[in-house]
Amino acid sequence: MKRSWSIGRLLGIPLEVDISWLLIFVLFTAGLESGLMNEYFPNVDLSWRWGMAAAIASLLFTCVLLHELAHCYVALQNDIPVQGITLFIFGGVAGLSREPDSPASELKMAAAGPAMSLLLAGLASAVAWSLDMFSFFGRGDEIFRYLAKMNFYLAAFNMVPGFPLDGGRICRACLTVVLRDPLKATRVATALGQAFGTFLILLGGWAAFHGQLGPGLWYAMIGWFLNGAARTSYDQMLMREVFHGVQVGEVMNPAVETVSSDMTLVELVQQHFLRKGALAFPVVEDRELRGIVTLSGLRRIPKDRWPEAHVTEVTEPLGDEEWIIPQAEAGEVFGRLVRNGERRLLVVESGVVVGAVNRNELLNYMRVKRELGI
Ligand SMILES: [Zn+2]
Repeated sequence: MKRSWSIGRLLGIPLEVDISWLLIFVLFTAGLESGLMNEYFPNVDLSWRWGMAAAIASLLFTCVLLHELAHCYVALQNDIPVQGITLFIFGGVAGLSREPDSPASELKMAAAGPAMSLLLAGLASAVAWSLDMFSFFGRGDEIFRYLAKMNFYLAAFNMVPGFPLDGGRICRACLTVVLRDPLKATRVATALGQAFGTFLILLGGWAAFHGQLGPGLWYAMIGWFLNGAARTSYDQMLMREVFHGVQVGEVMNPAVETVSSDMTLVELVQQHFLRKGALAFPVVEDRELRGIVTLSGLRRIPKDRWPEAHVTEVTEPLGDEEWIIPQAEAGEVFGRLVRNGERRLLVVESGVVVGAVNRNELLNYMRVKRELGI
C-alpha cells in the first residue's frame, strides 16, 4: 500500500503527504471545531464552523511546511541536495541525501526551521493585534493568536537540544566544535534526545494517570516516536562514519547464487527455491545478467507446465533501484536500503553479477569494525 501522496513541488523540491497526516488533519479540524470555533464563533452556522476549522488546520500545516522549506532552502544553499519533504503525523521531515559537511552549515540549516516558525509566530501576532485594534472580523484575532501560539510551540519544541530535533542538531554542531569528535558529539546529542523522549513518555503516563488521558497519550506517543527517531538517526550517522570512503565491492558478499535462463521451472524449484529458501534469484545467460526470477512470478505459471516451461518465461527485468555498481559508496547504499525498506541489492559490473549487499551484512560489518576499533 502506498504510504504517501505527492502534492506538488516548491523550490524544485517534491512535497509528499504521509497517510498518517490525513488522520491528524481530521483530528486537528475536529479539535478546532469543538475548541476554538465553539468558543469564539458559537453562533456561526455549523458547516461554516467546520469549514473554518479545516481552513485553520490548513494554515497550520502550511506553517509546518514553511518550517521544513526553510531547512531545505539553507540545505540547497550549502549544496546539499534535498530529496523531498514529507508531511506526516508529527509535522514534517525534509529528506536530505547527505549530512552537512561542516558544523557551521549544520547549525545554519537546523536553525532555519525554528527561525521561520518564530517569524511566522511574529507575523500572526501582528495580524491578531491589528484585527483586535479595528475589530472588523468578529473575534478573528483569536484565530491568528492561536496560529501565533502554535508556531511558537513548534519553534520551542524543535529547539529542545535532543537529536534529531533541530535543537539537537544545533547542539551536535556545537559539541563537534568543542569535542573535535563528530561521533562523540552525535552520541551525546542522541542521548539527550532519548532522555527527552523518555521524559515525554513518563510525563504522558503521569498525565494519563491524573485524568488527562488524551494529552497523556499524545505526549507518550511523541516521546516514543522521538526515542525511535534518535536511535535510527544515530545508527545512520554511525553507518556514514564507518562506511566513509568504503566501496560496495569491499563489503559485498561475492557468493551470489544465480540461475541459468535455460533450466526448467521444475529444476528451478528443486535445485534453488526449495534448497535456499530465497524469494528471488538473478537469472543469467552465459554469465550475463538477464533479470530476476521471483517466487510470485513463478506462481503465475500453472504447476503442470513447470516440467517444460523455462526460466526465461518468468524472468522479470531488473529495476534501476535493485542493483548497484561495485564502485558505489557503501554508506550511501546502506542509506538507500534503509530508505526503500529493501533487504538486498545486487552488485553488477559490466552486465555480470559479482555480488550482493544486504542490510544485515552491512550491520555486521559495522559491528565487527567497531569491536576491533578500526
Ligand atoms: Zn525543523
